[in-house]
Amino acid sequence: MPRLGVCGWPVAHSRSPAMHEAALAAVGLEGWSYQKLPIPPELFAETVRALPAAGFRGVNVTIPHKEGALALAGAASDAAREIGAANTLTFEDGDVLAENTDWTGLLEALGERWAPAGRTALVLGAGGAARAAVYALCEAGAADVAVWNRTAERAVALAGQLGARPVERPEAAEIVVNCTSVWLGDEAAPFKALPLQADSLGAGSCVVDMVYRDGGTRLLEAARTRGADVIDGLEILVAQGAASFERWTGRTAPRQAMREAVGAIAST
Ligand code: NAP
Repeated sequence: MPRLGVCGWPVAHSRSPAMHEAALAAVGLEGWSYQKLPIPPELFAETVRALPAAGFRGVNVTIPHKEGALALAGAASDAAREIGAANTLTFEDGDVLAENTDWTGLLEALGERWAPAGRTALVLGAGGAARAAVYALCEAGAADVAVWNRTAERAVALAGQLGARPVERPEAAEIVVNCTSVWLGDEAAPFKALPLQADSLGAGSCVVDMVYRDGGTRLLEAARTRGADVIDGLEILVAQGAASFERWTGRTAPRQAMREAVGAIAST
């Protein structure tokens, strides 16, 4: 029976199994399964190489393995190579193929309404998610992509590699994407960690938070209050998961079933 899964450490992604199990059931792929695979970094490569023999068709990869996944793959998409990280591995013909669906997931979630072509964008963060977001925005023809990060030199390096512009302070932009792991949940002063300008969150802008939590994050709450459109991180989770699902199964992903399984809230 075909197996799928998600590799992470110390915990593998908590919502992906429910989302993919719902998708498999909705399209009638009986016997397929999707499971959590918590794997420590030092065992990642050898464990992944053993997965095909155990019946795995592919796996998602999350923190801290995305760079390691790209490194062990025998082939990789151009996007995964440029981003420098893979979140989707497919086992095919004895080889491991690496892809990145975080960047397409962001573009799918932005949709036609917030298509980046010709727009200004601000990306917060300089880790793997930020690299995927900057790549996506540049590929989609954004007029300007600014990158702010707590550790400034990482923003400078990322921007130089992917064709964006590092900034010392967050600037106003039409599309704002939070790719930092600042949860904006229960912190006493969440906006101290992300020194955003109020006008970067207002009407006429779209704020995307890669981070998600039940009920939405404080960032999205603040953005919605100021009149911005918002896109919840669960929408990105669904879109990137749908692309992985389609890659592995060859079936159109049942996005609504996946959305319901993770409790995604409607974007505005
Ligand atoms: P990562 O590589 O560990 O990068 C973390 C980023 O957050 C870095 O830029 C880091 O800045 C910044 N950061 C951490 N703590 C901070 C703080 N207290 N104040 C300001 N900045 C802080 O992680 P990642 O893989 O890019 O993922 C980032 C987030 O996106 C995670 O929460 C992840 O779960 C989420 N994500 C969601 C999806 C989805 O499907 N919705 C997909 C991918 C990722 P420094 O460089 O200064 O340390």
